[in-house]
Amino acid sequence: MRVFPEDGPLALTQSAVVTHETHRCTVDGCPNLAAYRVMLYDFEPIGGTVRFEADVSCPYLCREHAADNEVQARGDRGTHARVVYPYTNRGGEHGVSLYLDLLPADTA
Ligand SMILES: [Zn+2]
Repeated sequence: MRVFPEDGPLALTQSAVVTHETHRCTVDGCPNLAAYRVMLYDFEPIGGTVRFEADVSCPYLCREHAADNEVQARGDRGTHARVVYPYTNRGGEHGVSLYLDLLPADTA
């Protein structure tokens, strides 16, 4: 299943579609190519509502900023939590940030 067809196949051909023009790290002033697409995930236990969608407040992160984002995250990551991240989920939504690999691990 291709969850994000706009990102192309998650395979060798991906290097052809992940470019600085289309997939730059969203952090202000960062020149790096994005290594991850950022998603927001939440499960609301009373109604059973699942939210899994692109983080429009910070759609792409490079490897360095994704690591910063996790190390500096504050808050309990329990069910339906509000976690405060330095770069992602700027709208303060319930849920946690998830990262989908855009690049092979040895690049960017
Ligand atoms: Zn960056």
